[in-house]
Amino acid sequence: MSKTNLRCVIADTGLGLHNSGRCYLCCHSRTYLKDDNGQEIYLDSSTLQDAWNSPTRVEIQHALNNNIEHPNCTACWEDEHAGKQSRRNHFNESWGHLTARADQPQLLDLKMGNTCNMKCRTCNPEVSSQWYREDWELNAGPKENISYPDYLKRWRRITASYNDDNTNVWETLKSWLPNTQYIDFYGAEPMLIKKNFEVLQAAVDQGTAKDITLHINTNGIIWEDYHEQLLKNFKTVFIDLSIDDVEDRCGYIRYSSTWDLVSGNIQKFIDTKTRNDNFIFTICVTINALNIYYIDEIFDYFVTNIKIPCVDTQLVPWVHSPDKLSFEDWLRVPSPGHVQPAVWINGDGTKWLHLPDKLNFSDWLINNTEKNLLFQSAGKEYEVWLEANPTSRPQEFVGLASTIYSEWIEYANAVPESNDLEYATTREKQWRLDPDTGDLFGTWAEYANAVPSIDSTKTTTTGMMINCNMLHLPSHLSIKMLPLEIKQIITQKLLAYKPTVTQRDEYKWQDQCDMILSFLNSDIDNDPGNNAAYLKEFHYYTRGLDRTRGQCFEQQLPEFAAVLKPWFDQLDAEITA
Ligand code: SF4
Repeated sequence: MSKTNLRCVIADTGLGLHNSGRCYLCCHSRTYLKDDNGQEIYLDSSTLQDAWNSPTRVEIQHALNNNIEHPNCTACWEDEHAGKQSRRNHFNESWGHLTARADQPQLLDLKMGNTCNMKCRTCNPEVSSQWYREDWELNAGPKENISYPDYLKRWRRITASYNDDNTNVWETLKSWLPNTQYIDFYGAEPMLIKKNFEVLQAAVDQGTAKDITLHINTNGIIWEDYHEQLLKNFKTVFIDLSIDDVEDRCGYIRYSSTWDLVSGNIQKFIDTKTRNDNFIFTICVTINALNIYYIDEIFDYFVTNIKIPCVDTQLVPWVHSPDKLSFEDWLRVPSPGHVQPAVWINGDGTKWLHLPDKLNFSDWLINNTEKNLLFQSAGKEYEVWLEANPTSRPQEFVGLASTIYSEWIEYANAVPESNDLEYATTREKQWRLDPDTGDLFGTWAEYANAVPSIDSTKTTTTGMMINCNMLHLPSHLSIKMLPLEIKQIITQKLLAYKPTVTQRDEYKWQDQCDMILSFLNSDIDNDPGNNAAYLKEFHYYTRGLDRTRGQCFEQQLPEFAAVLKPWFDQLDAEITA
């Protein structure tokens, strides 16, 4: 039996700074780092070096390197056991070649405080200081009977940790730059935090920027020529624009943005990309209770009006770059649905298909149709996809398969592990297709390049990502808490939606649709009492925030508000009673 390998390159080489002033390994961690006395480390009173030397970090690193599922990393274990790509998997793929250094991290996950220019409904005061007064008015004030000045004191450690004078934090980051490989900037709003750019400028001045990859998650409100001039010096710059809806609804969820500003800036980002190859922009739509009803319109808007060249979900990485076109990814990811059956032996996602089965993919597809529901619907979709593609591309699956599959089989058989039935059960040993494999990759790349929308020379242009994970969302805005009847209405609406775009994009829509539906209808919270409580919270916050922001749910999201009205009326009646 193959030995499990739970190594995580983040645990070996990464450090995360949280908005609160505490530290962790990464944003999926469940544990904040502690000092030798068992106290959580805060950067207002401890140093970055203390965080790096924390016994908590060493303990987690040691556990993973000894193949123990440390509870800090539960989010990754859950994803992996469900057959999804975890953060660990993603980072190991890109950065697994790094080896640990004793003196400093090489992968940084930075959330430098809570300075933000917006107060999105999906956010909270720990991540945006703009939320303070509303949180006090609606939440802490009435519930805890606390004055506003006293309420503000609870956020002091954030300010103290990341203020401009905390030279330990900012100067240490600069000193780490020569050995830093990757920096991930998240909100608050990283573009608004001047010190972030002072650190990046230091990398340019040191001559280290060309070796550093950046990822910036921004609300897209701030983008000046200065940012382009500075960031173009870095190796690669991934920018995710968090935009959750279009036109008037854009500013309802992401208050106080305006659509004029956001859409104008999208064009600026596209222009920046045109001038600089090292920028990769993605529109990241996080689905929540306030936009799920309009997701078809959002999709139409970006694909049809703005002509975003590709649309992707986090779980379908294979259109984004040539190496992601590998069959390994194609067969491994749990989405799109029509390739899902090739991944699992069981429909429950517990076991990888071993390699010989992968090779007989089409036979397996046909012979196993009866085995499970997941397979049946996915198999149907696969057929539709195959039928549609020769018309739109124009290519024949049968013709291509005889070339590609035969070479693939030849290659796979040449890999010694292909006879090991346990082979594909471990991620470490999964079969890879890389540029060194010569002809086979060439054939596959040729095929990929023949499909205009996944042209390998164009796939790193601006794209759109639909994020169904909603890890950071408050439960009361999660789509899973919506009443069953409303979920059914949304399901019907999604199934009836036919995008007015090309056949290729229609296929991609089906991916999005599957992802959203599976999440919408998944039984994540089995306790109806919890869902009812979240629905009440949703109602409470909607009304409360409408009042403090001078907006109106019924006017901004009229169709959705009409559908929800009976539920709100019922909740109002309960509250009055
Ligand atoms: S295993 Fe997952 S949670 Fe743990 S450090 Fe790695 S990426 Fe973070």
